[in-house]
Amino acid sequence: MIDKTGTHYEVVVIGAGVAGIYQIKRLVDLGVNATVIEAASGLGGTWYSNRYPGARFDSESYTYGFSFSKELLDEWHWKEHFSAQPENLRYLNHVADKFDLRRHMQFNCRVEAAHFDEVENVWRLKIHDGRTLTCRFLVMGLGLLSIPTLPRLEGMDSFKGRSFHTFHWPHEKLDLSDKKVAVIGTGATGIQVIGEIADKVGHLTVFQRRPNWSAPLNNGPISEAEMAAIRARYDEIFATCARTPGGFVHEPDRRGFYEVSREERVALWDRLYGTPGFAIWLANFREIFMDEKANAEFSAYIAERIRQRVKDPKVAEKLIPKDHGFGVQRVPMETNYFEAYNRDNVELVDLGETPLVRVTETGLRTSERDYDFDIIVYATGFDAITGAYDRIDIRGTGGLTLREKWKDGPSTYLGIFIHGFPNLIMPNGPQSGSASTNYPRGIETGVNWCTDFLEHVWAHGYTRVEATQQAEDAWTAHVADMYAMMLMRRAKSWFTGYNSNVPGHEEGRIRHMIYNGGAPKYVNRINKVAAAGYEGIELTGAPVPAAAPALGLGRIAS
Ligand code: NAP
Repeated sequence: MIDKTGTHYEVVVIGAGVAGIYQIKRLVDLGVNATVIEAASGLGGTWYSNRYPGARFDSESYTYGFSFSKELLDEWHWKEHFSAQPENLRYLNHVADKFDLRRHMQFNCRVEAAHFDEVENVWRLKIHDGRTLTCRFLVMGLGLLSIPTLPRLEGMDSFKGRSFHTFHWPHEKLDLSDKKVAVIGTGATGIQVIGEIADKVGHLTVFQRRPNWSAPLNNGPISEAEMAAIRARYDEIFATCARTPGGFVHEPDRRGFYEVSREERVALWDRLYGTPGFAIWLANFREIFMDEKANAEFSAYIAERIRQRVKDPKVAEKLIPKDHGFGVQRVPMETNYFEAYNRDNVELVDLGETPLVRVTETGLRTSERDYDFDIIVYATGFDAITGAYDRIDIRGTGGLTLREKWKDGPSTYLGIFIHGFPNLIMPNGPQSGSASTNYPRGIETGVNWCTDFLEHVWAHGYTRVEATQQAEDAWTAHVADMYAMMLMRRAKSWFTGYNSNVPGHEEGRIRHMIYNGGAPKYVNRINKVAAAGYEGIELTGAPVPAAAPALGLGRIAS
């Protein structure tokens, strides 16, 4: 039976990150009996956890903030074009306080299990503290990069100094001066950390398995006057984000790569290299993403830039990727990254030449020698996209576990629904528009669509919603087809589900994690589905009025 003692909600949202914050705002505005369950002790998701030095937006700050409230837009001053973690967390807390959302959030609550009750058409949740909750609809605001993963190295527990994943960088101030620090990993996180701490540590040793293509972030402060000008253009800025594939202010160059001369291509690249943000990736020629030859020419251009910035030619060569082209993996944006290697206190260890063998009591051992450290930082990435789902025992109809269903990769309908898991809704799920685009822009789209959907469901009194197998198969095939067009399909990166530290995610087992069709195409598609009466979704259940109060469908008593 449904628990009627106050632990039943119409909607439970898991996760108080950017998605959860906006989702609960929409639900509270509708007066729905809803709560957010969050494992961490505070809100903010990725910006709550990632407190490593250098953590900042790669999105223009003013395209990352929520767009739903003009008052919020008018009062918030982004101090930098690419704002750093402390300010980002302050912003999200400000949003929660401004709209009084905190009282709808429960922190330090880890959901261990979510089982669908096919008789009552509700989800039964088990929280790690032993509590159980029920809800009609389970909305997943799980982070896409929220399960950090560590190397599987012998001796990791034996190290006597401090060691942590970047996701768990200590919340208290950590004095790095005079310390011997190791950073393992050169993804977007490692590249941010290394650029930031190189001149603040005693000695820094970077352990690089594979280099990543990277280009300058070109960050800068935003003055009061500039912020006022940005505020005046917010409508235009969000309209640009809505029409660009990535949901950013950067629009692809519509000229054909081969239609312009080499000089014109280089002129564009010279300009983009000095342009802030992802312009170098997203305002480039579209062929970069699909055409090997075009990609190789551009990659050679960036390689030359690296050679110009790194004084030691041997080090420069090690920092230039040879196994993939620019933009095929997610491009980390850097600040002083390449210059860090010109410093006397910074050393690069190429794990391709001398692999890590083990962690010792005093540091790290490669196949060549031992290194001593005070601190080891693991910037080794995440069990991305589906990792947070895999950590919860989610069971749908017939006891089917989601972990089992997705063991070879996710399959969804629109990235929002999963056949066999009724009443489970993912505004920012695997294969949805947000995973591959400017995240908050995709989230607002996803949350708005899902909230409209729920309103439709409530208006008609449905109690059970489920994507058909056919609809899911078609969407998943469509997502896979998009990969086929992109050079990215071969990338050893989380875009394809690769993670050498997670069993089953090794190289070569391609998972279709993200939607590559771009934001406008995605939005168009989900809007068509809604206009067609939510085609592909079976809407069933008893009409409401009589059932509503008992099921907690009622509005929050205010
Ligand atoms: P990542 O891109 O997966 O990079 C992990 C790094 O660790 C790679 O260099 C990887 O090498 C290395 N590594 C993993 N296991 C290792 C092992 N056992 N031994 C040695 N090296 C190992 O992870 P990330 O840098 O945390 O970034 C993940 C994503 O988070 C980014 O792509 C981005 O979407 C997001 N992010 C965003 C921002 C932002 O928006 N500002 C900032 C940071 C991160 P291999 O390449 O050889 O596997």
